[in-house]
Amino acid sequence: MHATFPLLQETAFPRIFRKRLEVLQVNLGYRCNQQCLHCHVNASPKRKEMMGRETVLEVIDFVRRAKLKILDITGGAPEMNPGFKYLVESAHSLGVKIIDRCNLTILEEPGYEDLASFLAAHRVEITASLPCYLEENVDRQRGTGVFKASIAALRRLNRLGYGEHSELTLNLVFNPQGPVLPPPEATLEQAYKRELKARYGIVFNHLYTLANMPIQRFGSTLISRGEFNAYMSLLKQAHRDGNLDRVMCLNLISIDWQGYVYDCDFNQMLGLPLGGEKMRIRLSDLAHDNLDGASIRVADHCYGCTAGAGSSCGGALT
Ligand code: SF4
Ligand code: SF4
Repeated sequence: MHATFPLLQETAFPRIFRKRLEVLQVNLGYRCNQQCLHCHVNASPKRKEMMGRETVLEVIDFVRRAKLKILDITGGAPEMNPGFKYLVESAHSLGVKIIDRCNLTILEEPGYEDLASFLAAHRVEITASLPCYLEENVDRQRGTGVFKASIAALRRLNRLGYGEHSELTLNLVFNPQGPVLPPPEATLEQAYKRELKARYGIVFNHLYTLANMPIQRFGSTLISRGEFNAYMSLLKQAHRDGNLDRVMCLNLISIDWQGYVYDCDFNQMLGLPLGGEKMRIRLSDLAHDNLDGASIRVADHCYGCTAGAGSSCGGALT
């Protein structure tokens, strides 16, 4: 457990159990060209943790033997990992749907000029953070200049056919600026579509709304502002049992840059091993056909997934 958040371990969160494994979410490392305030990974340009070639090969082998449908690649900025393209090419050749959790600005960085066309050529679905369609709000949360670079990247993706052709999916992700729940997803999606089209000529497929997780950089900010307990109370009061059937950990496992397995990316950040085991297990030692019905390690941060309309890597749950 991360030392900053010891209270998250004691929980009344309901027990939940795995269904059929369908998605492998792989964190290629914590290095990022950005350093956002809400980041649940504590990613930054200074982070050194990056998945090595041997572990990338373990990931490909697992996808093949477990016959998984979806490879969900995240970070940091996963594209900064030298093994990123090899992983994408290998998964593409296996016929797996690939999702790249892209921060957009990486597409505009020197040295990454061919990245957008590489993603398009391999039919990679892009899920990209854009916490607002207003420059001031984005730059406040994600850093000066991030909005302009994000708009340039979205235009580049649209020119390649992203957001318009069904085989090139471009989804955007909204998260609130502070310790509040996101507004209704469908309403906000309409506003994003209207404003991005009118202001910048940008089109995209879907908007996902996610609650901020009370861990890592966002959790630390809440603690330093004395807002941590109030935010936890808000999440708990807004908990809906109906969301428990749809939380992402039911059909997903998360892999860290060293190849260890967790129930989700948030548990990975808190160092909580898969299923509440004492020791972490490596992906290469995991029997994928033993996971159905297995217990999931829950803690208080799980209320971030079930509060209000719910949150998952695919947006609201209800
Ligand atoms: S939120 Fe995303 S873009 Fe921002 S620092 Fe974290 S990983 Fe990088
Ligand atoms: S935080 Fe992770 S383990 Fe908890 S409900 Fe959400 S996805 Fe599942």
